[in-house]
Amino acid sequence: MRVCRVSVDDELFFGVIENDAVALLTGHPFGDFAPEGRVLRLSDVRLVAPVLPSKVIAVGRNYAEHAREMGAAVPAAPLIFLKPSTSVIGPGEPIALPWQSEQVEHEAELAVVIGRLCRDVPEERVPEVVFGYTCANDVTARDLQASDGQWGRAKGFDTFCPLGPWIETDLDIDDAGVACVVNGQQRQSGSTADMVRDVAELVSWISSVMTLLPGDVILTGTPAGVGPLVAGDEVSVSIDGIGPLTNPVVDRD
Ligand code: MG
Repeated sequence: MRVCRVSVDDELFFGVIENDAVALLTGHPFGDFAPEGRVLRLSDVRLVAPVLPSKVIAVGRNYAEHAREMGAAVPAAPLIFLKPSTSVIGPGEPIALPWQSEQVEHEAELAVVIGRLCRDVPEERVPEVVFGYTCANDVTARDLQASDGQWGRAKGFDTFCPLGPWIETDLDIDDAGVACVVNGQQRQSGSTADMVRDVAELVSWISSVMTLLPGDVILTGTPAGVGPLVAGDEVSVSIDGIGPLTNPVVDRD
């Protein structure tokens, strides 16, 4: 099932996408929901970020090739950091380059959307707490990541977490392609099969640190090929079966 969130006449609805149509829902897909009645053409609605997370937990250096291109080792334990909920934007919304950085880069990632309040989830029970998957761009001010020594600012600017365009609830994540295209040129092309730690291990490990709430999002790391974004670019992230998640890049006002 493809679950999206749409703006219709300035009102937000969850919806289910089938072919070129969106069936609007009342309520919340993580809880009680029902058909609203209207079925609209996908081309007639504006998709917004498919979820509003209380927090976005991201995993660093989870693909060995990417760790190598950063000149860093694969960490002995998952390396996690938080992106603020205010960094989330939806498909089509601009990524705004902040004046503080001269080197902003894309990172195409598989995003896991949590569906249930949970903590201390054993790996074998992770499927019970995962609602679905979407595309993410872990936009990063690479120069500030290096100079700050920690990643809160480099990863936390407004607009630095595009999500979408929808949540796929049934996805084979064992060997799903993860790709990034900038202005029609392929920059990243990897597979979830190359993750150092898989989704079950990451969700279990993170849930041993912090309680996960419905709608929380986990970014699972980026494959090799990260590179710069400049104003005027158009960047797209795709996962096999989801996307593309496309965003224009602009200078921040
Ligand atoms: Mg990342």
